[in-house]
Amino acid sequence: MMRKILASLVAAGAAIGQVPAIDWEKQKTEILKCYRELIQIDTQAGNETQAAEYLKKLLEAEGIPTKMFALQPARANLVARIKGNGSKRPILILAHTDVVPVQREKWPVDPFGAVIKDGYVWGRGSLDDKPVLAANLMVMLLLKRNKALLDRDVIFLAESGEEADTTGVGINFMVNQHFDEIDAEFSLTEGGGATIENGRVVTMNFGTAEKVPARARLVANGTSGHGSVPRLDNALIHLGAAVEKVGRWQTPMRLNDTTRTYFEKLALISPPEKAARYNALLDPAKAAEAQRYLAANEPQLYSMLRTSVAPTMMKAGVGANVIPSEAEATLDIRALPDEDITKFYEEMQKVIGDPAVKIVPLPATRPFSPASRLDTEMYRILERVSKQMYPDATVLPSMSTGASDKAQLRAKGIQSYGIGPANTRADSTNFGAHSDVERLPEASIYPFVEFVWKVVTEIAAHH
Ligand SMILES: [Zn+2]
Repeated sequence: MMRKILASLVAAGAAIGQVPAIDWEKQKTEILKCYRELIQIDTQAGNETQAAEYLKKLLEAEGIPTKMFALQPARANLVARIKGNGSKRPILILAHTDVVPVQREKWPVDPFGAVIKDGYVWGRGSLDDKPVLAANLMVMLLLKRNKALLDRDVIFLAESGEEADTTGVGINFMVNQHFDEIDAEFSLTEGGGATIENGRVVTMNFGTAEKVPARARLVANGTSGHGSVPRLDNALIHLGAAVEKVGRWQTPMRLNDTTRTYFEKLALISPPEKAARYNALLDPAKAAEAQRYLAANEPQLYSMLRTSVAPTMMKAGVGANVIPSEAEATLDIRALPDEDITKFYEEMQKVIGDPAVKIVPLPATRPFSPASRLDTEMYRILERVSKQMYPDATVLPSMSTGASDKAQLRAKGIQSYGIGPANTRADSTNFGAHSDVERLPEASIYPFVEFVWKVVTEIAAHH
């Protein structure tokens, strides 16, 4: 017995010994400096190389080699790798360097000043995505400085063109042409976050799945003619009816591991009435009514239950007195990760029930990719570190209704998870990613870096 206890003590000591202890209080100055300097580099799409150069300088100054990959000179990606002993496959930590455009007149401060005011760091990118970028940088520097012994390589990727990658300079370029540089078992990147209520972290959200854009056009054809002579085969009439039908179509509800767990856990932390509704979704006898309520009142959650169809554009006609021969509508379809999209279009054609209206799929913008699993070592570590740092917080896996660069990584078999710093709901809504004005509580950046450090060292360090 004694020997057993001793052995486990030694094992615990060894585990701690391999993961360097960081003085987080002392580390604050450097964290804030890097985070602010990254915001101060104006990386509105087309200018990412400046950020890559900044990162390269800091990494190489401490002996971490880097490689620059640029499809366009101004839009470089940067890769750095700290080697492990190769006994486990690498972990990839990535963040995008570009930010969405700003309208300067909407800002109370310089959008690229990283101004600290009222307890917040203000600036374009202060949420999307420079906290993750800064945290990943700090993790690399700390691993190297502390000579951490690793089982896995830790790969750092600062990618360009996430926000508007029309030319494929970022993740598509890296995945299609330099995949060997970033191939990994797991990846961590944006797409999650923690929620603060009354000053405390109450939920930790990890992005484990996302819907896939599968847009299509509806094209109706009829006979053109003089507006004074109504025709039964008027393309606009056919299109109008079809848009109404697909717009009101209640597509089948289907849960996956992520959404089932999400609603179960959401019920646990919601007031009784809401909780009953979330639980009802899991009960076939009651699901229909709960869905109706969500459709009207919580559309975000409703969308998580199904492949969704939203008509977004219509186009027809050249003159008030001309019956057009063609009319078209655009549908923003967001498919569940496991949707058979060909079958789905067939179903939709039946719902329309009109041979004059054709469904024309638009080119795919993201690949179909399976949800990342909840039973991996990575997900368990995300849960464990969350519980360690925030014992009262609920861990929620989440499926984004939007799309991200994780799709390309998941499609290549990398189990990918979205993380993010803590914020209040009000700040996420009013000063969140892509808002006119973006800001993050200064106090959120420090524990976020600590969180990423703990997760990366747990999964990668030699224990
Ligand atoms: Zn982003």
